[in-house]
Amino acid sequence: MNDSQQKDTSLNKVASSISDHIYVTELSQDSSPTTHFLSEKIQTITGYPLETFQADPAFWHSIIHPDDRPLFIEHRAKLTNQQGNEVEYRLNRADGEIIWVRDSGQVDNNADSKSGVMVYGIVSDITPRRKAQEALTLARDRALEASRLKSQLLANVSHDLRTPLTTILGYAQLLEMGAHGPLADKQRETISGIIKSAKYLTNLVNDLLDQAKLEDGKLKLNITSFVPSDIVNQVQSNMSVPAHTKGLTLITDIGPDVPLTVTGDPDRVQQILANLVSNAIKFTTEGTVHVRLFRPDPKHWALQVSDTGIGIPTTEQPHIFEPFRQVDGSGKGDTSGAGLGLSIVKQLTTLMGGYISLESEEGQGSTFTVHLPLMPSNVDAN
Ligand code: ADP
Repeated sequence: MNDSQQKDTSLNKVASSISDHIYVTELSQDSSPTTHFLSEKIQTITGYPLETFQADPAFWHSIIHPDDRPLFIEHRAKLTNQQGNEVEYRLNRADGEIIWVRDSGQVDNNADSKSGVMVYGIVSDITPRRKAQEALTLARDRALEASRLKSQLLANVSHDLRTPLTTILGYAQLLEMGAHGPLADKQRETISGIIKSAKYLTNLVNDLLDQAKLEDGKLKLNITSFVPSDIVNQVQSNMSVPAHTKGLTLITDIGPDVPLTVTGDPDRVQQILANLVSNAIKFTTEGTVHVRLFRPDPKHWALQVSDTGIGIPTTEQPHIFEPFRQVDGSGKGDTSGAGLGLSIVKQLTTLMGGYISLESEEGQGSTFTVHLPLMPSNVDAN
């Protein structure tokens, strides 16, 4: 056995111990190949006999998927220019199956061949990995499309519901005011029921619309300078009746170091506080709801709502800011609402450049704190 035969035998032994196909090819200046070594694994990978490739060095090119041939030509050109390169392409196997391979070639710059470049390459079957990748991409695209359609549906349905609801509310309020004649007690009671339900539905539809806009990145803030204590006073006057009706005490407290004015979107801050306070009232049966305004650090101001209600289990705390999420109360607490309030609160807070934190213990109560920048930097003033 001469030297070259011995080398081939050793190479064959190594090659048969791995699942990849290895090759040694010489590329001339025009990238045409001369085969020096092909491992037998070429048969397993392609389904064609080794001899076919040995007899015709261009046969490999002919089984590459036509769409991927330009990639392969580019790969060969790089190798001819003495650059190692790796490429992934599809092969048409003898049995008609299409598989994915990774072809990685190293060039030997010190090769004694004068006429071309020696390439030492490995071809691996990567079909399972590519299939998993394709399935993941497909699943992601489908999920994104489903989410986009859901937001669109949410926006359209909410929009279409809002107009007739406003009309129902308007007519009911006219009746309540006696615009069409005096009302008997029973009629007044019925009208008040209609108004209450219409208001509830209007709030729900507004939440759905906000959620759809937030998901789509279409909600715009109206940044202006405002007096934060006005917001607390407003919530106090709107919420003290519902709080007292449930026998709760609503306390508000404004820290002395809170600036007289801050910059932000006052309507959206009001919405955040109203949501937190109405939740606090909803999930508390006795005790106190405490609203605090304070300055946690020189660059922020904070709104805090604490209650002595049912609390939120630790396992649920990371999830309650997700849309449509409600704690499985197993009969505890109020199950009305769509589970959108906290999701909107969190997204609005983030949009304003702030963050929200929660401390809660089951049976003891909850404290939500919204930290907002005194001067938002990530929103355009308009
Ligand atoms: P909704 O109030 O419409 O259900 P939210 O998004 O405002 O939706 O709240 C999500 C869930 O978080 C509520 O259903 C409730 O289970 C829980 N939760 C929110 N605030 C409180 C609170 N102050 N105390 C106890 N649980 C709360």
